[in-house]
Amino acid sequence: MPVVVDPARRFEVHAPVLVVGAGACGLVAALAAHDAGAEVLVLERDVRPAGSTALSSGFIPACETRWQRERRIVDPVAQMVADLRRKNHDEADPRVVEAVCRASGPTLEWLADAHGVPFVLVEGFLYPGHSALRMHAVPEKTGAALMAALQRAAADAGLDLLTQAHVSTVYADGASRVRGVTFVRPDGEVEEVGCGALVLACSGFGGNAAMVRRYIPEIADALYFGHVGNQGDAVEWGTALGGAVRDMTAYQGHGSVATPHGILITWALMMEGGFQVNASGRRFSNEHLGYSEQCLPVIEQAGRVAWNIYDERCHRLGMDFEDYRGAQALGAIRRAETIAALASACGLPGDALTATFAEVARYAAGSARDPFGRDFSSRPALAPPYYAVRVTGALFHTQGGLVVDESARVLDPQGAPRPNLFAGGGAASGVSGAHVWGYLSGNGLLAAVTLGRLAGTAAAALVRDQP
Ligand SMILES: Cc1cc2nc3c(=O)[nH]c(=O)nc-3n(C[C@H](O)[C@H](O)[C@H](O)COP(=O)(O)OP(=O)(O)OC[C@H]3O[C@@H](n4cnc5c(N)ncnc54)[C@H](O)[C@@H]3O)c2cc1C
Repeated sequence: MPVVVDPARRFEVHAPVLVVGAGACGLVAALAAHDAGAEVLVLERDVRPAGSTALSSGFIPACETRWQRERRIVDPVAQMVADLRRKNHDEADPRVVEAVCRASGPTLEWLADAHGVPFVLVEGFLYPGHSALRMHAVPEKTGAALMAALQRAAADAGLDLLTQAHVSTVYADGASRVRGVTFVRPDGEVEEVGCGALVLACSGFGGNAAMVRRYIPEIADALYFGHVGNQGDAVEWGTALGGAVRDMTAYQGHGSVATPHGILITWALMMEGGFQVNASGRRFSNEHLGYSEQCLPVIEQAGRVAWNIYDERCHRLGMDFEDYRGAQALGAIRRAETIAALASACGLPGDALTATFAEVARYAAGSARDPFGRDFSSRPALAPPYYAVRVTGALFHTQGGLVVDESARVLDPQGAPRPNLFAGGGAASGVSGAHVWGYLSGNGLLAAVTLGRLAGTAAAALVRDQP
């Protein structure tokens, strides 16, 4: 995926704002650029735009939204900023953290009001580290439905979106100003388009095994659960154009993917009282630190698996999620009336599982303290019938990438913006710092939609001011 310096190159077709990638970031960037008065073209390698966005749960955190106000939820920008900074131990650029949190509410309200994306507040449980209910989703609560809504919005706005257009080369002048790109069609034909500004919305490098091994060896052998098309093209082009990268070791993992079924099992089960045990029937971690970092302790267990243990109340909550219903339909979810029967259904040692339940009951009652540091007192004790599902840990998407400012402009190592290059979502370094534990639930789509909007708006302003 090279960058070619060719100041003399002329392009017959020209798009003032060109967006590479039609996931959440790309579509939001395109809508924003369109609303700011620019002509936009989106190039997407797949037949149908999907990306990791369509694989996701589609939950987007946002603060000070009208959906929160309707429920009398007070969630000032400062509170969301503090939540993110606490989780990432202040490793992420605080200016970008502030910018995405500040933009989060207005971005979702704009998508709803100007483009008919029907957001609702996700209720019923609080994600780890969120001080208030702030997850928003379309009513179906899936990433696929979010993508469908964004695509509808793009079509209604009359945006030009070219699919099966795999961008292969970026052309620049001698001063790293992007002049255009070439893209490959399924029959191998190469086409080209010039541009005034380029928005890189082609996500991270989770699908590129060599890059994952190079930057994040700790997760290189785990299942990759994101979009295969995320090959690190943005990092390659952006750095060749003089952009800096940071936090390349950061990623969103997940400690709860049903195996061998390959279905995300919602972390709500853990937040509502469930716990994880290994093949010995023993807990091995504090499940409330976050689902992202939980990928590592899970893959460290024998067979790289764990069992999520929970009860009927949690199961009912799980049934709110399409993924979970799919797991149920495929027989991934085991149910039993007693702990002994559950142990036998899962092939776990009954004595050990019974002892683990007894320990958890003591932590919940306050008569003993969890050595892993989890507080079990806030949720009701588990009650029969009991449930279990076998899970593994996975890499969902990478969080490191091109350094951007509050307008999603790509910056060079000295902090100066590249002339006409923008990045957002998985293409940019995110708001999770440098480690897996820095990922606060929803940081992925938060960075995709907010930086997407900021990038699209700024790119439109740039081309408006160009001669
Ligand atoms: C299972 C799962 C669940 C998740 N759940 C959540 C959640 O609930 N909340 C949350 O905040 N985050 C979640 N995430 C993370 C979230 O999905 C990502 O952070 C987000 O989708 C990134 O959006 P994006 O637009 O940057 O990338 P993507 O949605 O991956 O879009 C990138 C697009 O670029 C295209 N592309 C790549 N290279 C090229 C090229 N050279 N030419 C043309 N096109 C190209 C790809 O085909 C793709 O369509 C989840 C991730 C996974 C895997």
